[in-house]
Amino acid sequence: MPRIEDLIGKKPKKTVVTEDKIEMGGAFTCQTCSKVVSEAEYNRSEYFITWTCPDGHISKVQMG
Ligand SMILES: [Zn+2]
Repeated sequence: MPRIEDLIGKKPKKTVVTEDKIEMGGAFTCQTCSKVVSEAEYNRSEYFITWTCPDGHISKVQMG
């Protein structure tokens, strides 16, 4: 007789994306073209900040 776990399978692990990221205001200089961006995103779980300049360059700084 099959167990209930075999019928329903394992529950998929929840992935939380938004709660780990915080929007930050400030002055962040593009690492490629030196344009200043006023918004960045802080990733709390992996301790880095990323921001994207108007030209589409992505800058990243490790915090921890
Ligand atoms: Zn740039």
